[in-house]
Parts: sequence; C-alpha cells; structure tokens
Amino acid sequence: MMPAPALVVATRNAGKLREFRELLRPLGCNVHSLAELGITEEVGEDGETFAENARLKAIGYSRLAPFPVLADDSGLEVDALGGRPGIHSARYAGPDATDADRIRRILRELAAVPGAPRTARFVSALALASAGRMLLEAEGACRGVIIDQARGSRGFGYDPVFLFPELGRTFAELDEEEKNRYSHRARAVRALLAAPGLLPLLGPPA
Ligand code: IMP
Repeated sequence: MMPAPALVVATRNAGKLREFRELLRPLGCNVHSLAELGITEEVGEDGETFAENARLKAIGYSRLAPFPVLADDSGLEVDALGGRPGIHSARYAGPDATDADRIRRILRELAAVPGAPRTARFVSALALASAGRMLLEAEGACRGVIIDQARGSRGFGYDPVFLFPELGRTFAELDEEEKNRYSHRARAVRALLAAPGLLPLLGPPA
C-alpha cells in the first residue's frame, strides 16, 4: 500500500496547529509540526501582507523540511483602527506580551475612538510550498464584532472578544467543531482543499 502523503504545518502556535490538524483531516495526510521534525530555525516574515508572509514562511520552511509545507499568516483587522493590528497581530503589545495584553491594547485603542464601529475581520492566508517552490495559495476571512468584555475560554488569541454575529457567541465560546466550520482558517483551508490536483502535489519533490 502507498504510504499516506505527508505535510508540515509551519506554525509554533499550539492553537493554530490543533485547528489545522482537524481541518486537514479530509486530506488523509500525515500532518507534522515544525517541532516534531526538530526544525528550530526561524524563517523571517517581514512581508507587507498576510499572503506575502505566508509565502515567505512556506518557501523558507520547505527548504528545511522533507515534506511539502503549509504556512498560514493570519490576524485580526479592526475597521475603526484602520485595519490594525493586521499583520502585527501576534506581537501587537510587544514581544513578551500575552493574549490578554494584546486584547487590552485593542480595547484601549477602540475606546479612544468614541462612536466608532466595532466591526472587524479575521484573515488567514495560506501558502503551500515544496523544496523552495510555491505550489498553491488560498485566503479566507470571517467578519465579526469586537466586544468590550472577554467571553469564553476556548480558542486562542483574540477569540474572547471576537463576537461572531451569526451565532451570537464569541469564537472563544464556540466548540472546536463550530469554530472549524466558520473561521477564517476553515474558509482558507476549504478553498485550498478545493484546488484541483492538490493531492498529487503532496507527493515527494521530483
Ligand atoms: P501569525 O499568523 O503566527 O503571525 O499570528 C497570528 C496572530 O493573529 C495570532 O498570534 C493571534 O493573535 C491572531 N489570530 C490569528 N488567528 C486567530 C484566531 O483564529 N483566533 C484568535 N486570534 C487569532
């Protein structure tokens, strides 16, 4: 029997990794993390867009990994903050800050704009690369509303203040299956999985 194709998910974020493992299940691939493969090098992500950063990570890590690499660059764009924190979402309150610090910062910035709309969107850009070469890209987004009081204990990052209006709950109040139905990352993965000829691309590099 042919071995199942393998894929590396280029993230060190445990929350993202858990979601990817579930979202990629339909592919029937063996999904590895960077840590499992002992890849400790950091590939720079100094692009100006989510898509550019995803490409940089996918291409960079695919030079270090024995299998194709799927990288995601994601973040929260708050309309009243001109799209911030955007590509700076992971480090918005400094390199050593916590999720709670980052949430406090966006709530403080929003409070300084009285009457501003509270609308925002999560964005996920995906890039798939093999042996230094780009194979496929996809993007997904999910709109919501930023609330003042954190609600829920699931998920990660900005989930506790991101209210998903269709369900009237924050992303941190959704169970994993629900978040994986509606999230920006779920939408991006679905777009990627719909790409024709994805499975043959996951074979060993020529
Ligand atoms: P990066 O893609 O690793 O640069 O980091 C993305 C950052 O955006 C994360 O560290 C979170 O702060 C935020 N983020 C991305 N996706 C989500 C999500 O699904 N929920 C909550 N926060 C997210």
